[in-house]
Amino acid sequence: MAVILGLDQGTSSSRAVLMCPDGTLSHIAQRELPQIYPQPGWVEQDPEAIWSSQAAAVRAVLGDAGLDASAVHCIGITNQRETTLVWERATGRPIANAIVWQDRRTADDCAQLAAAEHDAHNGRNIESIVTEKTGLVLDAYFSASKIRWILQHVPGARAQAQAGQLAFGTVDSWLIWKLTGGRRHITDVSNASRTLLFNIHTLAWDQELLDIFDIPRSMLPEVVDSIGNLATATELLPNGKITGIAGDQQAALFGQMCLRPGMAKNTYGTGCFLMLQTGTTPVRSPHRLLTTIAWRIGGETHYALEGSIFVAGAAIQWLRDGLGVLNSAPEVEALAASVPDSGGVIFVPALTGLGAPHWDPHARGAIFGLTRGTTRAHLARAALEGITLQVADIVRAMESDANNSSTILRVHELRVDGGASTNDLLMQMQADVLGIPIVRSQTSEATALGACYLAGLGAGIWAGVEELEQQWHESRRFNPQSNPEERRQKIAAWHQAIHRTRG
Ligand code: ADP
Repeated sequence: MAVILGLDQGTSSSRAVLMCPDGTLSHIAQRELPQIYPQPGWVEQDPEAIWSSQAAAVRAVLGDAGLDASAVHCIGITNQRETTLVWERATGRPIANAIVWQDRRTADDCAQLAAAEHDAHNGRNIESIVTEKTGLVLDAYFSASKIRWILQHVPGARAQAQAGQLAFGTVDSWLIWKLTGGRRHITDVSNASRTLLFNIHTLAWDQELLDIFDIPRSMLPEVVDSIGNLATATELLPNGKITGIAGDQQAALFGQMCLRPGMAKNTYGTGCFLMLQTGTTPVRSPHRLLTTIAWRIGGETHYALEGSIFVAGAAIQWLRDGLGVLNSAPEVEALAASVPDSGGVIFVPALTGLGAPHWDPHARGAIFGLTRGTTRAHLARAALEGITLQVADIVRAMESDANNSSTILRVHELRVDGGASTNDLLMQMQADVLGIPIVRSQTSEATALGACYLAGLGAGIWAGVEELEQQWHESRRFNPQSNPEERRQKIAAWHQAIHRTRG
């Protein structure tokens, strides 16, 4: 039996999955990945541990299925995005630990760059150049300032880079380098679009951006499509064909089969990650959402708008660990369902500031409307409602951005995955506040699913995306049970509460 192997290299673990040709996931194996915290605000990983945990997960999943590497028809790779690695081309030896996307060490560097005028560019502000070309914001989150930090702080690194001896890669590049014994140094368009060095309009590394961050072009990987005959493994999976690559959120969008403009997905985990497919032209975002490449297939590039919420499931964790009103996160559902509404309580879970579309790092969480009748059940319900209202704000901002450009988009349904999406009450409340159906897919593994779908498509297992769409099944649909006036009132009260949390 030939199977598709998906490698899902995440921030806290490496997973490997097997997909049968009928599109079902048959096996999953997972290995934890240790985090390294050298200083407050710094987050690193050992590049060799990234590789060895991924390799161990691959061996385990094949072992569980009783298969050897020759049964693998094709390989798809998806990965934590933006995390930055630099290694020596000659030896494959990393010159530093991987700097993880969460790492904030370059925040000041980014702020300084943002404030600087770029003389060589007619005095244009660097931040606007960066946003215009990359669709992102000039932030420490993305790879460019992390590469620059490594070149500045690892002894001898800049000279080595200038001599063409160093390679940069995000985690996809690193895994492929390892799988091909250093023969292929590539990244796909979706990962490239998260580096701050890739021009999403011309689909090429951008010399002006390389100059701004002072990064030699020779370090960069070749950028390839999301599917195709991208590389052939020699290590671990000899002769294994790598036929699909995407960053994790893009893979999840694909795994949810959001293939047409207006289709959107949300992943409910610690935070929320929303993505809206906007078609073949990039949509600029006045709301400061991110414009990013979803994938490039058959010569056609699809774009997406992305918005994240820092605190979603984490608000439930806080009820459990901070307030002690829950013993476990899933308990929140029964507790919240024990009251018909939140009793006028509004919980703004801005525990670490507010992200899109409010963008206020100084905002703090707040609970409004407490009375003597308020119980922990009302708090639980208000926390769930707070998650859904944040999501609604982003969906509306995305629609408004899209409609400001030439694209007229209406989100007709939201496809969901992630740990907290198993909460039926939360999903019903989300449908009610958005006024559109919420659709839960059959597997919660949207990211791994997307990597396998891309790989299978790249290997020709499915003739086209239309055939692939037949493989995707919803498990449950939550239809809105609210009326527009109820929604309007709820959202107005929420915005008033948001206003009061801001400094
Ligand atoms: P991550 O991938 O970010 O670690 P997961 O997808 O594993 O997150 O989801 C875990 C998060 O979801 C935690 O923040 C937890 O509090 C929350 N969570 C888990 N189960 C539920 C539930 N039934 N209702 C609401 N939140 C939940």
